[in-house]
Amino acid sequence: MYDVKSPKAEEFISDEEIRESLEYAEKNKSNVALIDEILNKARKMKGVSHREALVLLDCDIPEKNEEIYKLAREIKQEFYGNRIVMFAPLYLSNYCINGCEYCPYHAKNKHIRRVKLTQDQIRDEVIALQDMGHKRLALECGEDPVNNPIEYVLDSIKTIYSIHHKNGDIRRVNVNIAATTPEEYRMLKDAGIGTYILFQETYDKVQYEKLHPTGPKHDYAWHTEAMDRAMLGGGIDDVGLGVLFGLNNYRYDFTGIIMHAEHLEAYVGVGPHTISVPRVRPADDIDPDVFDNGLSEELFAKIVACIRIAVPYTGMIVSTRESVESRKHVLELGISQISGGSRTSVGGYVQEETEDENSAQFDVVDNRTLDEVVNWLMKLGYVPSFCTACYRAGRTGDRFMELLKSKQIVNCCHPNALMTLKEYLEDYASPETKQIGEALIQKELNVITNPTVKQKCAEYIANIHEGQRDFRF
Ligand code: SF4
Ligand code: SF4
Repeated sequence: MYDVKSPKAEEFISDEEIRESLEYAEKNKSNVALIDEILNKARKMKGVSHREALVLLDCDIPEKNEEIYKLAREIKQEFYGNRIVMFAPLYLSNYCINGCEYCPYHAKNKHIRRVKLTQDQIRDEVIALQDMGHKRLALECGEDPVNNPIEYVLDSIKTIYSIHHKNGDIRRVNVNIAATTPEEYRMLKDAGIGTYILFQETYDKVQYEKLHPTGPKHDYAWHTEAMDRAMLGGGIDDVGLGVLFGLNNYRYDFTGIIMHAEHLEAYVGVGPHTISVPRVRPADDIDPDVFDNGLSEELFAKIVACIRIAVPYTGMIVSTRESVESRKHVLELGISQISGGSRTSVGGYVQEETEDENSAQFDVVDNRTLDEVVNWLMKLGYVPSFCTACYRAGRTGDRFMELLKSKQIVNCCHPNALMTLKEYLEDYASPETKQIGEALIQKELNVITNPTVKQKCAEYIANIHEGQRDFRF
């Protein structure tokens, strides 16, 4: 029985409800009156239900699809403007006891190089990341209670926050570790993490159990209910959802992820902070015939646009799994955060790996440096942002959502984006990037509508030029 407020995975992600929604959308994919009705509701920018979002995803009328893309662009502009938040993943350890069939870290892969960073090695990786200009990291770690116990993760977070190399510092550590207990989530919260990220991979229980034949991750309910434990039991305010497109029927997982967002809103009181939309990538010991990244570019773009419409308040992330062209396309349709200069191997920021000593989780497609990505974004008219202000000002969870809904972000996110971009330009940018960025900052100051904030922001930017750091609104 479907119940959005149920604590049970199989009730809030009801297979029956998803299958009925799939049938309903299939029947209505050319129903102009219904699509218009959904679009009119969506134009209020307060979201639409999973079933309505699926009708939009399935819609096969070219003119209506144009309206869908146009609306996604408008919502993106309204809530996120032209700012793109930058981050990088940091792989701590690829020891893992799970059997995920699509991931090279699965326990049975005996020829991948297993690496676990020491605290000294983490320090070196963080210095390398700071020297690139990063302020926001996503920690990645396999599940292994012996090699990667919670104490190891906590020590690593402490190490990361403690390093201040030259003008660098990591101001927000998001954490992507396996589903765990409320007690361990509380420890992560107390260690000062930003978002807790856990990808569902697929919401289809049968498929999920096949793809995760061994290890604790096999338990569908434990995994699917993890966000409830993290938020209600651990007190974590911000959580990040994701599915790995290419593992299962994309329509099923699209519906599942929107239902999960609805559940968090209804049951916990706050929707997800972010949704990630990775597609399966080639990797060591993974059968390329079984796991191709099956979604066409067109479908991938449509998924991003429809998630944007369904959950306007949720940030969306794409990684360097995607090509430059792909990233460019989805940026305008809804993506608000991207990684840049990423290495997906353990220790990869200090020492790039050769093919023979592979410890990477997947092949990176966008291999550009952070400076190249920042430069590219600015040439496309975006403002790369290294902002971490909300988390540090305690604006997380529902307080963050209030900010987003208040439409005051133009007087908060925008000046913060410009100031953190200025820091980047002063400390890390190439001469060409610096030149483009300085002109962009002057132009974008005019976007700030509050005259006091605008003036303060201009003053802070001048102070940053004089050597001061870390201003925020
Ligand atoms: Fe381990 Fe995560 Fe890879 Fe699964 S996806 S094998 S849990 S690292
Ligand atoms: Fe994100 Fe808050 Fe910074 Fe805006 S002010 S970019 S919401 S951290």
